[in-house]
Amino acid sequence: MIDRAALFRRLLSDLGLGESVQNLIGGKLCTGAGAPIALQDPYTQEELTSYPDCGEALAERACAATQEAQLGWSKSHSAAKRGEIMQDIARAVDAAAKPLAELEALVAGKPLRDCRIEVAKVAEMFRYYAGWADKLHGEVIPVPSGHLNYTLREPLGVVFQITPWNAPIFTAGWQIAPAIATGNGVVIKPSELTPVTTLALVRLAEGAGLPKGLVNVLCGLGPTTGQAAIAHEAVRKVIFVGSPETGRRVAVAAAQALKPAVLELGGKSANIVFDDANLKQACLGAQAAIFSGAGQSCVAGSRLLVHRAIHDELLEMISTGMNAITLGDPLDEATEIGPISNARQFAHVSDMIQSAATEGADVRSREARPETGFFVPPTVLAGLTNRAKAAQTEIFGPVVTAIPFDDEEEAIALANDTAFGLAGAVWTGDLGRAHRVSESVRAGTFWINSYKAIHVSSPFGGSLNSGFGRSSGTDALMEYTAAKSIWLDSAPVPRIAFGYVS
Ligand code: NAD
Repeated sequence: MIDRAALFRRLLSDLGLGESVQNLIGGKLCTGAGAPIALQDPYTQEELTSYPDCGEALAERACAATQEAQLGWSKSHSAAKRGEIMQDIARAVDAAAKPLAELEALVAGKPLRDCRIEVAKVAEMFRYYAGWADKLHGEVIPVPSGHLNYTLREPLGVVFQITPWNAPIFTAGWQIAPAIATGNGVVIKPSELTPVTTLALVRLAEGAGLPKGLVNVLCGLGPTTGQAAIAHEAVRKVIFVGSPETGRRVAVAAAQALKPAVLELGGKSANIVFDDANLKQACLGAQAAIFSGAGQSCVAGSRLLVHRAIHDELLEMISTGMNAITLGDPLDEATEIGPISNARQFAHVSDMIQSAATEGADVRSREARPETGFFVPPTVLAGLTNRAKAAQTEIFGPVVTAIPFDDEEEAIALANDTAFGLAGAVWTGDLGRAHRVSESVRAGTFWINSYKAIHVSSPFGGSLNSGFGRSSGTDALMEYTAAKSIWLDSAPVPRIAFGYVS
């Protein structure tokens, strides 16, 4: 058995972070002064380390440092130069892919194979937005008067990003890349449970030429560190990725300071399977939709809506299939599903299965699971209605609620009978139906005969309890910039007048 706490310290040190969790401000590592926060290995349940909450004073220092660095980044660096540095960051991420993936697997409990893919996607995000850095521009507006009117697309200044624990480095790259490509500075507060790969990413970026202090990382708690940064006068916008409950608190704090916010929240996505679908594909898709990442994905296909004619057959296929999935140590190459990422989430998922059983669900769980770790076996809940608690609450674990339907109209009504609006999918051989269902289900992302396809070039976001605003693609460029309208009077004699100039 490897000494995992020693491995943790070695990986931190290899990635230039010393041997303990600190904050990264102005290119320097500094220790917080708040209450201790423990990092627990989700596989062994042993403590890896503990570190002090960053706290208000350091949060304020980080916001001020970012403000200063951002002026240099947006004014002294040409857009093309910003793009070049971002290409170098992408190369640095690729070069450090192994320790980054191992550190993520160790701390977040995510299988190494998934972490490798997510690290590669981070490099891809920096490459994609590097290309945009010098291609974003304003426009000339054909106004009717004798004026030249044009717009500048300007960075916002300092943006504050708050991220969750389920895909730490992926979410950091997803938000940092478009923010800096458009000339902003970033203060980022990763989840206190998984801060280290975000620190490592920014450290690597600085090594690749990112000006020190342009992106500062705060390792701490939401109510202290997070709230202090939201309130700081330098912060122009808050980007929050996390649960609806916390999202509401963040939105209220941002509104009180009259700051806009983007909220990327949870989901309860419908994965709809019609009786004309390729059942083998739909079964694999349904398993990937909810069991991969142990279901800890905002877009997880957590409601499986199945045409009544194939309901029993599909559930039988999924129940058989889930016994073949490899559960185990996230650091093991063969592992397909790791443990739940932390104790609090493990308790929530376990409670939800228990309460579904009390509500009368037919609980079908995979038989074997590892002895140690926060493991929840892949589970199908049958025999419930769409109004059941398990069908309406985000479980954020490998637990799917299966609900039968009789026709297309009922499938759409069930899919939309939720407080969320993030994602969904349809499996069918009928193209027309695929299109009708895609149009009718309320979701920011929808897949046809597929699930979880996602790319930095495509917009992502939700509505209702899934939040508002868009990340990724060209939509993120708009979220991180504002248009300034400039008017120049081109008449030979300036037409200054009181009131409107015509
Ligand atoms: P969470 O809401 O508990 O925490 C998210 C972040 O908010 C953490 O960094 C936390 O420290 C911070 N926070 C907590 N209280 C705060 C406060 N009062 N002020 C400011 N910040 C505060 O979420 P989680 O448990 O870390 O993550 C799981 C949730 O994230 C799920 O609901 C999941 O669906 C959602 N999620 C959404 C997306 C998306 O893009 N829509 C992506 C990933 C995860």
